[in-house]
Amino acid sequence: MRHILHVNPNTVEVNTLFIQPTRYCALNCPGCYVKQHISTQEHVHPQEMAKLFGYFWNSNKAWANQLTISMDVVPRIGNSVHLLRFARYLEEELLAPGALEREERPEVHLTLRNLLSAQAYRFNGQHSLFENVDVVTVSNGCSLDTPFKENKLVKFLNRNFMLDISSIGWNSSTTNMQVDLISRTLEVYDHVYMLLNKTPIGKPVDLDIHKKYLAKYQEVYTLLSNSLGDKISRDTCVDDSEKFIKTGFGCSSNVSKFQVWPDGTVSGCPYAIRGHGKVAVVAEDILDNIRQARKVQDFSECYIHRAM
Ligand code: SF4
Repeated sequence: MRHILHVNPNTVEVNTLFIQPTRYCALNCPGCYVKQHISTQEHVHPQEMAKLFGYFWNSNKAWANQLTISMDVVPRIGNSVHLLRFARYLEEELLAPGALEREERPEVHLTLRNLLSAQAYRFNGQHSLFENVDVVTVSNGCSLDTPFKENKLVKFLNRNFMLDISSIGWNSSTTNMQVDLISRTLEVYDHVYMLLNKTPIGKPVDLDIHKKYLAKYQEVYTLLSNSLGDKISRDTCVDDSEKFIKTGFGCSSNVSKFQVWPDGTVSGCPYAIRGHGKVAVVAEDILDNIRQARKVQDFSECYIHRAM
């Protein structure tokens, strides 16, 4: 893992980069920040999105310690062709011989809905592809399917678990049911990441509701971490907001963490309602947008520390 010091102006260096190649996921998961993001309806060509990945994966133009690519569920209608093409180009980049020979490589994460989405992209059975993916995160709300593990397709399987806003009204027996569910999840998955349901940054927020919700989130997290230890992690936004209260330093959004949106605009915060920069045509435009996003600090609009 490299320290991100921005010493070379010709190289774009980040700690973590999330790439959202398309907004047209077939599902409407509660709390999905992608669908709440305001953007143009433009899509960067899938080959250019995959090229962007290639710049970080296999060139001196850019470096990321961690690259996360969101592979949503292929819709039955609409933009499935776009998604499938992206998957093919991504596979070519991932398996490029030059990349595999490099001594130092970014950690690659894929987010998928479940095994069915992997099959939709025809990744299933492509062992070589998964060999170069370090972590697969299965989205919140999916069924607890096991074949990923049984087929040993992935090295490390994480499941996102979002505690939704309705949890405020839970009594102790509902909370215990969730604790039980997460414990059973860990019989199949290596790890659970406990997501905080967020109002997208830049949208009006009901602070009272978020205060109550955050208190419930902390209660459930404490119960879980007491029994499950390091198999469960707390949302880093909660950690960063606590750190801000103590030190005055915000999260790493726009400093070393960036999110690329389907039109190639870039935000520091994955939950930001707007991206910075111009609609991109080629992968280089997205690198420029990362440079632009560096000049703004999305954390200045973050409300989480005010709900603590
Ligand atoms: S600004 Fe930082 S702490 Fe706030 S929601 Fe975004 S990533 Fe999380």
